Amino acid sequence: MMKTIDDLTVDGLRVLLRADLNVPLDGGRVTDDGRIRASLPTLTELTARGARVIVCAHLGRPGGKPDPKYSLAPVAARLGELLGQPVELAADTTGPAAHAAVAALRPGGVIMLENLRFNAAETSKDDVQRGLFADQLADLADRYVSDGFGAVHRRHASVYDVALRLPHAAGYLVKAEVDALSRLTANIRRPYVVALGGAKVADKFDAFGSLIATADRILVGGAMAFPFLVARGDKVGTSLLEASQVAAAADLMKRAAPGQIELPSDLVVTTGPGNSGTVVPADAIPSDQMALDIGPRTAMRFAAALFPAQTVFWNGPMGMFEREPYAGGTLAVARALLDGEAFTVVGGGDTGAAIRALGFDEDTFGYVSTGGGASLEFIRGEELPGLVALEQ
Ligand code: ADP
Ligand code: MG
Repeated sequence: MMKTIDDLTVDGLRVLLRADLNVPLDGGRVTDDGRIRASLPTLTELTARGARVIVCAHLGRPGGKPDPKYSLAPVAARLGELLGQPVELAADTTGPAAHAAVAALRPGGVIMLENLRFNAAETSKDDVQRGLFADQLADLADRYVSDGFGAVHRRHASVYDVALRLPHAAGYLVKAEVDALSRLTANIRRPYVVALGGAKVADKFDAFGSLIATADRILVGGAMAFPFLVARGDKVGTSLLEASQVAAAADLMKRAAPGQIELPSDLVVTTGPGNSGTVVPADAIPSDQMALDIGPRTAMRFAAALFPAQTVFWNGPMGMFEREPYAGGTLAVARALLDGEAFTVVGGGDTGAAIRALGFDEDTFGYVSTGGGASLEFIRGEELPGLVALEQ
């Protein structure tokens, strides 16, 4: 059993909390604060118990050196608003500013360290280098709490090494993620239906392979569908195609049971995302057009497949939902999940964002995972370094 913060003494102690606050920014504005909100239950519990909380997190890929573009300042400000108390941001991660901010922390107070990835050692493949940075992080605190589920699949200093250096426990988010995702790996209630979409096709194909072994049906939409269409001999026009994945798609189809993988039968195509679309059969995409959504017949078919499910995993929007004319497929899948009674896990950063952007209340869905890559690795049965470290 994984130890949680309920089993950890924190009163008056300095607690280093690894959170996943890697949110989308537009200039200095947080455009989707889902991950910040997801960190609140653990934070409020720690402050209520009189901990001195030191939040550490990463933002984007600054490449191992400070870059003001990737400062956590907007995130600290938003966290302070949601928490109802100021969250001071230290100007560095483990340097004099961090030490000064920690020294000034009172019980129940919260500060944030500057972007972990301003330090090359955070993500280094070199155990010694990473260990030295973990030593510096551990110097700041008496306890370590792991709540950044979206990063637990990374063997990074703040995720893995520091956990080995301090008494530690999982936060409520990590615990909730592990509990929810475990229902997709063992004792699965059937039928188990998976909907896969989005644009990061290569990243998701390994998980796709494992899902063939566990899921009863796999509904494929978004840009994920195009390698399959090409593999069976169709042309996809100017659609977003990861051509390197066509062979992998052919292999997945060969390994799947007949009818297990369901592809779109119609699609919404257009000359460009700014233009209006028309519906065509999936094997008749005009050569000068791109498909940006599944068509209405496919949406109905997918909804009908999802409705009787007892377990659902949904990763990746069915189309370019950010544009209203191409949000229909994603909307239909979301509605089918709300109508049905399945235990539902929604994974993928953009999928969670789509649910919120389309006006759905996240809490009415079964479980909206904050971890894209981490949740995919979990359901593949991979050992996640950040979880392994917590078992030590
Ligand atoms: P997630 O973060 O949920 O795992 P991805 O990052 O894989 O999802 O993909 C999300 C993106 O996929 C969205 O920005 C959406 O616009 C895009 N997308 C979905 N379908 C299509 C399509 N047919 N053509 C181009 N982009 C698409
Ligand atoms: Mg994404």
